Amino acid sequence: MSRYRLQPTPAQEAALAVHCGHARFVWNLAVEQHAHWKPGRKSAPGLLEQCRQLTEARAECAWLRAGSIIVQQQALRDFAQAMANFFGKTHRRPTWRRRGRSEGFRIVGVKPGDVRRLSRKVGEVKVPKVGWVRLRWSRAVPVGVKSYRVTCDRAGRWHVAFAAVPEPIGAPGTDAVVGVDRGVTVSAALSTGELLIAPTLKDSEKARLLRLQRRLARARRGSKRRSRVKSAIAKLTARGIDRRKDWVEKISTTLARRFDVIAVEDLNIRGMTRSAKGTPQTPGRNVRQKAALNRGILAAGWGRLVERLEHKAPGRVVKINPAYTSQRCSACGIADRRARESQAAYRCRSCGYAGNADVNAARNIAHAAGHAVSARGGPPLGEPANREPQRDLLPVG
Ligand SMILES: [Zn+2]
Repeated sequence: MSRYRLQPTPAQEAALAVHCGHARFVWNLAVEQHAHWKPGRKSAPGLLEQCRQLTEARAECAWLRAGSIIVQQQALRDFAQAMANFFGKTHRRPTWRRRGRSEGFRIVGVKPGDVRRLSRKVGEVKVPKVGWVRLRWSRAVPVGVKSYRVTCDRAGRWHVAFAAVPEPIGAPGTDAVVGVDRGVTVSAALSTGELLIAPTLKDSEKARLLRLQRRLARARRGSKRRSRVKSAIAKLTARGIDRRKDWVEKISTTLARRFDVIAVEDLNIRGMTRSAKGTPQTPGRNVRQKAALNRGILAAGWGRLVERLEHKAPGRVVKINPAYTSQRCSACGIADRRARESQAAYRCRSCGYAGNADVNAARNIAHAAGHAVSARGGPPLGEPANREPQRDLLPVG
């Protein structure tokens, strides 16, 4: 993502905050409308109806009218997208936005002259009703920017992210298939045997974070000290998130460049993260362990990796059914629940294959993609013949 640090003046910062407030207000109205909806009622208003309502609201409210209609309309559009993601089961249901948390707004209809460079390290972007806001020109701004999003993180830092779907990366044309298994301890295992670990905070940073969290627990609510500690925590957390984002960019580019077909598990992350707790009637099992696992999965920034892969290698990402990928032996195809000796080790009791459990899963994912692609009449995948055993055996054990 091409994200740049914004350097607004205090006056501009106030104006940007007003845009954020409007976007939040409109978003929360949309959330409320949909929250009232119950099965059997007339459907909650769609985007068109909501835009009409927004026009009415602007006619009545001077303060809303004083804001940017682009900001307000885009908040509705973002909400519509969030609902689509929710129904598509890739994201959670959109919820209320609170002040000071994930604040932001989007501007569309950006013209070529609206982003310009002033000097080697400084540029500026035109924001409706705010004017030219300086930004740190930390790398080239992509050409043909059509929209951008301005955000303020919890540490109070402003950023602008220019929406330019990355140029697709050419396939190497080697018919190479790679399976990618997403893990927690290992962030991604490749069927080639490579284990990729997403960067997190350094040990010294983790220790500092722990100290800050303890200090926060002791700080009085509403005190100056508390807000200082809070923003220090936010800064550290943001650093970890930034590192993982960079990592996702690097890995997705590398995979798109090295392989023709990239196979990933079609995981319903939302389902996985939600199921642990269960319901009051049917409480989940191993809730504590699962909760820890879930945090790990979310932290690994999974959805993002797949999303970027789909941008950079359009049509070359295959999502496969994850059933048995972790239990099945990638050498002989037998599914054996007891072959997984530990989190890291896989040993097949049928053919003797032994290896890293995540790599074994990644190899299964690659095999499954081979099937998926040839079933669709895609290119031949040059898979060695000895890797084509009876894959549809029933699970053993
Ligand atoms: Zn085996």
